[in-house]
Amino acid sequence: MSDAIRSPNDPPSARQPRGTTAPQARGNSGAQPRSSSAGAQPRASYPSAAQAWTSIEPVDLLLVDDRTEDLLTLAHVLAGPEYRLQMARTGPEALKRLLEQDFAVILLDVVMPIMDGFELASLIKQRERSQGTPIIFLTADDANLIQIYRGYSLGAVDYLSKPLDPDVLRAKVRIFADLYRKDRRLERQSEALREGERREREVLLTELRHAAERRYLHLAEAVPLCMWTADPRGNLTYTNRYWNDYTRLPLKDLHGTSWIAAVHDPDREGCAEAWREAIASGQPLEKECRLVRGSDGVPRWHLSRTVPELSEAGQLIGWIGTHTDIEEAKRAIFARDEFLSIASHELRTPLTALKLRLQSVLHARDLPEKAQHRLDSAVHQTERLERLIENLLDVSRITTGHLELEPESFDLAEMVQEVTERFREQAARGGTVVDLSAPAPVMGKWDRLRLEQVATNLLSNALKFGEGRPIRVVVQGNAGQATLTVSDQGIGIAPENVARIFHQFERVVGHRTFGGLGMGLYIARQIVQAHGGSVEVDSAAGKGSRFHVILPR
Ligand code: ADP
Repeated sequence: MSDAIRSPNDPPSARQPRGTTAPQARGNSGAQPRSSSAGAQPRASYPSAAQAWTSIEPVDLLLVDDRTEDLLTLAHVLAGPEYRLQMARTGPEALKRLLEQDFAVILLDVVMPIMDGFELASLIKQRERSQGTPIIFLTADDANLIQIYRGYSLGAVDYLSKPLDPDVLRAKVRIFADLYRKDRRLERQSEALREGERREREVLLTELRHAAERRYLHLAEAVPLCMWTADPRGNLTYTNRYWNDYTRLPLKDLHGTSWIAAVHDPDREGCAEAWREAIASGQPLEKECRLVRGSDGVPRWHLSRTVPELSEAGQLIGWIGTHTDIEEAKRAIFARDEFLSIASHELRTPLTALKLRLQSVLHARDLPEKAQHRLDSAVHQTERLERLIENLLDVSRITTGHLELEPESFDLAEMVQEVTERFREQAARGGTVVDLSAPAPVMGKWDRLRLEQVATNLLSNALKFGEGRPIRVVVQGNAGQATLTVSDQGIGIAPENVARIFHQFERVVGHRTFGGLGMGLYIARQIVQAHGGSVEVDSAAGKGSRFHVILPR
């Protein structure tokens, strides 16, 4: 049996196709060994496929020839476990195969109908994926030099003439197949290396994550405030030591939203409702409520904060809840308010008596002019004191929920005009122009004295902080609401301070520069809100302020 058909599946030598195995096979270099006949035994330098490649990973070869018998001969010569052979009879068929998979070597007949070998090779080389695949051209004609050079310019790697020498063919294919295997091995090794590095990085990251989680846990255990975490739906996932010690709620009972059980009875429903809303909206929650201390059952005021925990992509991954004990602060505020309430009541009685005495002396006959002048000033100072004390009393009325309104029907435009007139003289002394626009009556049912208080506060602030520039007061009304706007062109308020100025005793100016106790706007807003209205402010530092009171009619 000839060497060309030694494979176990090989057909008998009689069926060997014409012209494919021949005494002569030519390599492009001419340095390849030549076989003298189709039936020659393998040379020592080319071990048989069965001997050398049985344990070698098979690679794919693409055989392209329009002649079936030539294809079969190639298949016979290259048969063996080291190759998987794919065959194509036309260029388009070969291209289709190349779209489906990669090949170690392509054996390409030069002379084919539809698309010749060079055309096909040029298309193969244009495709990035198949660009590097070695091509061995096969031709039955005597390849002339020009054809050979054309083959090389397309990046072909070898060129063989038919009839082929099986040994030479096998040797050439083996070299490229070997190279292909080495490339694959290298690719696999570097992939394994990359995979190893990736795993190492993952391990490192996991370790870092665990270390960070441990630190976070230690931190949560160390802080002197109640803390817990929950999943996105609000189900508890962790409570810290402080929480467990404070509430003494059995750990086994802690699940879902059971932390609510620690909230003092009267505050519980409000807290649960606010928490449900926070979960639904994904928004942070801040609420004051009393938590019952487990050791003695005493409720203590806490500032409860729950903030959403977001992933890097901004997705809600859980909640962090903290409860800061504010019992002492609450008591201090309560003591302050109580003291202010008592002090203002205590101060008011002697002050009223003092004012009455002064007024009676002032009205006495034949008082020297100088004494009259001094008494006038003393009465004026007692009136200032009276206003301060009234404000203090109002603050304590508001904090204890005792601010009462006495509504009556009146014209807001007329009332504001009266208050403005009272200010005109004081404004003129400082060179400030007060411009009032109240073109039509704005009737409504409100507490007149309280709204006078509001208008007085806004006007006196505009004078105090208006830097002597013109002040504009506007009263308007429509079917649903009445509005009072007081605008100045003075020092203005920085945006970060706007919300603060409506709180008790909050001031954003130096006490030495501008007198005041920071009660006016707090009281004004509470009065307007008690009427169902609102106070808004438009301001910027150095740009003046515009206070806008809206009252329902
Ligand atoms: P007080 O005027 O006694 O300080 P208010 O409650 O009336 O108290 O005002 C609180 C603070 O708001 C003021 O101290 C001041 O800082 C700021 N403020 C109020 N009105 C104005 C205004 N028209 N322009 C600039 N700042 C103002």
